[in-house]
Amino acid sequence: MSGIIYPTTNLKATESLTLERGDGVYVYDNNGKEYIEALAGLWCTSLGYNNRELIDTVNEQMGQLSYSHMFGGKTHQVGMDLADKLNAMVPVENAKVFFGNSGSDANDSHVKMLRYYFNAIGKPEKFKIIARERAYHGVTVAAASLTGLVPNHTHFDLPFDALGILRTDAPHYYRGALPGETEEQFVDRITNNLEQLILKEGADTIAAFIAEPITGASGVIVPPKGYYEKVQAILNKYDILFWADEVITGFGRTGNDFGSTTMNIQKPDMMTLAKQLSSAYMPISASVVRGDMYEAMIEPSAQVGVFGHGYTYSGHPVSCAVALKTLEIYERDNIFGHAAEMGRYMQRRLHEFADHPLVGEIRGEGLIAAVEFVANKQTGEAFAGGAIGGFAQQACQNHGMITRAVAGSSLAFCPPLIVTTEQIDEIIEKFSLALQDTLDYVTR
Ligand code: PLP
Repeated sequence: MSGIIYPTTNLKATESLTLERGDGVYVYDNNGKEYIEALAGLWCTSLGYNNRELIDTVNEQMGQLSYSHMFGGKTHQVGMDLADKLNAMVPVENAKVFFGNSGSDANDSHVKMLRYYFNAIGKPEKFKIIARERAYHGVTVAAASLTGLVPNHTHFDLPFDALGILRTDAPHYYRGALPGETEEQFVDRITNNLEQLILKEGADTIAAFIAEPITGASGVIVPPKGYYEKVQAILNKYDILFWADEVITGFGRTGNDFGSTTMNIQKPDMMTLAKQLSSAYMPISASVVRGDMYEAMIEPSAQVGVFGHGYTYSGHPVSCAVALKTLEIYERDNIFGHAAEMGRYMQRRLHEFADHPLVGEIRGEGLIAAVEFVANKQTGEAFAGGAIGGFAQQACQNHGMITRAVAGSSLAFCPPLIVTTEQIDEIIEKFSLALQDTLDYVTR
């Protein structure tokens, strides 16, 4: 035992896999065993491991200016260059960015910016946020409150009441539809629920609606066609901001630049970015808001006083440098185009398992997918307890592949964006072996 408190465990965990190095889409453990990384770490190592350009960038920036902060009027060129590049990329109007260190703290920053903004424009009562069941937005107090997963709340007295978090349906047709309900009827029902919630609470009290364009960590949920069009029409009607949490779906993951593009979300007002922003070479996150929101916040007549928020490592120059280089590589090497092509191939190959007796649903877009296991293929009955996902994850690991059980009974696939067709074939081959082991386990 190393004395580490491991994240998301029952605190009795011991190390089960000790990784030593990585190269491309492969990682190696302390016994030299090779694993293909089918989850890009935690959905983040988009350019793979041991990328020389990114390593050199880190080293050069370390030598140039290893630290600077962004308080009291101080800034640095690499931070400004990253902000310019990022703001020009995102589909947020006249975007302005606040830098942080993780997806969680970026979401907390957004919660504060929302409060600050609505105070600045004289609407302090407009602070509630609508979040969805099964959403994952991180683990800091505000982000965990936005998260819609029980284990992130239990034992922490979350959601934190003062934040005014409201909860609406997860857009998962396979698990959420009523008997006989079509996809269209499902969308109508859950968006009608959203509208009723707004009417019940009072639109004047609600600041924003937060959504992962495709829900990632809790099962890779792709909403049915027409869902976001209806959601956005409702939000526009009641003057509620759309906040896209693109921590997983940003930067080519779903077959386009952003998940918002893939899901036809028109111009989100706010966007959260992290993970693939730096290909996970250094921690960095970005809380992006519409330019006019920022202008209102700095308007002297706003009289809300200092924006009392910021981290020691907001805009860390080494993180900014490696993020800037990552964005340059995405563009120069047409990484998003490549990922879109590989995504189509991966989805097609995963769908070869559609007839397998354990497979209930295969879902995804681009290079993110999940396969959900079911106890009864005809009825869709779920396995009790969710241990099946963990078993399949371990079976994959035994066959030399890293992936992750999500939502108990699903296995997620999210390889680095640089993955090749041959490597996707290897992922499919290893999944096939693990699936056979899982079938043997449940039928033994
Ligand atoms: N938001 C989304 C959509 C995420 O998937 C995650 C992490 O997986 C987070 C926020 C939290 O990011 P972090 O783990 O960097 O705090």
